[in-house]
Amino acid sequence: MIYYTKPSITELEIEMVNEAMHSSWGSNAGNWVRKFENKFCEMFEFENAIATSSCTGALHMGLHALGIGPGDEVILADSNWIATVAPVVHLGAKPILVDINKENWCIDVEQAISAISQRTKAIIATHLYGNVADISKLQEVCFSKNIFLIEDAAEALGSTLNDKQVGGFGDFGIFSFHGSKTITTGEGGMFVSNSNELANKVRTLANHGRSLSEARQFWPSTFGFKYKMTDIQAALGLAQLTRFQELTKRKREIFSIYKKELSHLPFVRLNPEQKEVVPSNWMTNLFVDNPAGPTREIFLERMKSNEIDGRVFFWPLSKFNFFEQTHSNSLIKNSIYVASHSINLPTYHDLSLDEQYIVIQTVRSLFE
Ligand SMILES: *Cc1c(COP(=O)(O)O)cnc(C)c1O
Repeated sequence: MIYYTKPSITELEIEMVNEAMHSSWGSNAGNWVRKFENKFCEMFEFENAIATSSCTGALHMGLHALGIGPGDEVILADSNWIATVAPVVHLGAKPILVDINKENWCIDVEQAISAISQRTKAIIATHLYGNVADISKLQEVCFSKNIFLIEDAAEALGSTLNDKQVGGFGDFGIFSFHGSKTITTGEGGMFVSNSNELANKVRTLANHGRSLSEARQFWPSTFGFKYKMTDIQAALGLAQLTRFQELTKRKREIFSIYKKELSHLPFVRLNPEQKEVVPSNWMTNLFVDNPAGPTREIFLERMKSNEIDGRVFFWPLSKFNFFEQTHSNSLIKNSIYVASHSINLPTYHDLSLDEQYIVIQTVRSLFE
């Protein structure tokens, strides 16, 4: 079986986790987490980074810290993982789903602008598959309308815009270290912000509302969350950060082989190349920009018969029947169209060249 994703774990990760298991208790508790956060800030040039138990948790706290709640609206793209919208709903705010743009598969800024109302508090831009959303336009819009800009950079560690890591362009950004992501801590995430005030709030929220400056023990100043990362996870994350260049280089290598071998096929479009952007190439997605196909179902079936774990492009969130339909399908046509004509191709560090060519042959066979 050729998997679609798998983390790369070496002796370094094992050694560092082993060390953390021995050394991270008592008065040393939290040291690995701090090291991981500091290294993250230093490598990617963020003012503040707070390690969390998941990216979803980081988003939940960030939205809460911005004061988003009942009566508020948050605009995001229909093509997203459920994690991006669930915290909005849990806080009692209303998600407003808009279409993606067919070029970069990220939020369509024109549609986002039309969706802005008196109640809009924030736009969440997801850098889907490591492609970069139209950040400068979004910054302009959010600034002029006085709404928050949030970057879901879960899949975009290593994606830069004008040499700057994405996640740092908005009011805050979030990253995921789930086992499928470019670096992993098993489960885990990172909240980043260049606002010290917002970061301090989130740091307090992450630890059951207990402020770092509080001298009294067990004294919360507010209702918080319990979304902290463990030292053991942080040690794994630090080891992965040490290997960051190697991990991203491999993602790009895999992408460039797919591109060389597949991009000439009729109507095929792989992850776009964007001006001023270096993408993380977290996951290669193959999109057939032709209503006549082949479709996702045909790809999935052929891959399955060749023992390849093909994965679908994110379903449009509005397809889930627990969602109140806020937009008609005619407005979100790209989210539906791209999803139904796409397939994620295996993109992980240890994928061998032979395995990659099995995937390539399988894809090609559908165009013969
Ligand atoms: C993985 C992912 C998340 C959630 O990350 P967790 O660490 O699993 O909470 C959020 N948004 C996107 C776009 C993702 O790919």
